[in-house]
Amino acid sequence: MKNNNLKEQLNQHIEKIAAPLCEMADTIFDHPEMGFQEYKSSALLCNWLKKNGFNVIHGVCGLDTAFHAVYERGKDGPSIGLLCEYDALPIGHACGHHLQGPVILAVADALKNIIIDKPFKLIVYGTPAEEGLQGKARMLANGCFNDIDIALMMHAGDHTTVDVKSLAGARLDVDFKGVSAHPSLAPELTRDALDGLLLTFQGIEFMRGHVKKDVSLVYGIKDCVGMPNNKDQTSTEGYVVFRTYHSCDVEDLEKRITDIFKGAALMTGTKVGIAKSHEMVGKLPSHVLNKLILDNAQALSAPQILRPHRERTGATDFAFVSRHVPSAVCRVAFVPEGTPSHSQAFLEAGKSQRAHEAIRLGAKIIAGVAVDLIYSSETFQAVLKEYKNIKAAEGNAGRGSTAI
Ligand SMILES: [Zn+2]
Repeated sequence: MKNNNLKEQLNQHIEKIAAPLCEMADTIFDHPEMGFQEYKSSALLCNWLKKNGFNVIHGVCGLDTAFHAVYERGKDGPSIGLLCEYDALPIGHACGHHLQGPVILAVADALKNIIIDKPFKLIVYGTPAEEGLQGKARMLANGCFNDIDIALMMHAGDHTTVDVKSLAGARLDVDFKGVSAHPSLAPELTRDALDGLLLTFQGIEFMRGHVKKDVSLVYGIKDCVGMPNNKDQTSTEGYVVFRTYHSCDVEDLEKRITDIFKGAALMTGTKVGIAKSHEMVGKLPSHVLNKLILDNAQALSAPQILRPHRERTGATDFAFVSRHVPSAVCRVAFVPEGTPSHSQAFLEAGKSQRAHEAIRLGAKIIAGVAVDLIYSSETFQAVLKEYKNIKAAEGNAGRGSTAI
């Protein structure tokens, strides 16, 4: 009962501060910045946090557009990480990341002002470059996220829900080196690098029929003879990106693709070089946090609720955080069901009434979850315990076992 009153007070506070935060989201939307270039967006969020009494460091862990903002009441309460993204896609904010910062600011400010009788710590992490550049992985490698017990984030979507799995995999860049000689006077001395790459693609197509259904294989050409600005006629560059919801299969898939590269080089008498990047891990779910999110969403009559959860999301660098501390993302519906992210429709809804409602609602849901964690040490301990078990089970079964 007490928590319900508290949540009501938090909701009222969020309503009170929502209008300028919705405007802030519109401003971020109108000035989209791609990964690691989010100078204006991160400055807007940091300035607001500073003005509202948070201890802010803009630029952390070697990333100019990452930030860290702290508020602590008392000692030894749970340390709640509130994460937000703000990077855009080339077409603009077609993934709704402009909404996340304002949501997290509203949550942090409401908790700071309303909860006065319990110890807790809030750490707002501004996490740049989610889209393809894995900002959170870099932050983690550089020492971020060691001061939080759990991590929460909001993401706009076509359902109000949570998810359990995300894609793992990597990108393999490949270059084939051929041998040049006069094509009609000494064709026997030539070796064509493009042949190696074309046979690679052929091999990937044949492989497609012999992998689990959830495996995605995407490839392309980066440079070859005939392309504008081709720099070296004896070399051809391409890439293969592979993704799977079964993290335990990543190693095997990488090996099979590497064998295809090598086989193609052997067949064509070319030399091959391989470089791995964009390694993505699968996320570890927190079912306890997921349930708290959905319970709070339901209590607020959130639209388009999908329960118990959405089984899968795409590849996300949030997965790196989920392997460090118990984590969950609260998805909030702001577009009709079935509207995909990264689409024109998603982009067009960016400043809509529903987008602004999603800010209010996302903030209320996450603030509600924070209350559940701050006021019930049993709930908080249940999150930690489940996480420990999931990690132990994974350790026994291999990374990202399907059992979890
Ligand atoms: Zn996104």
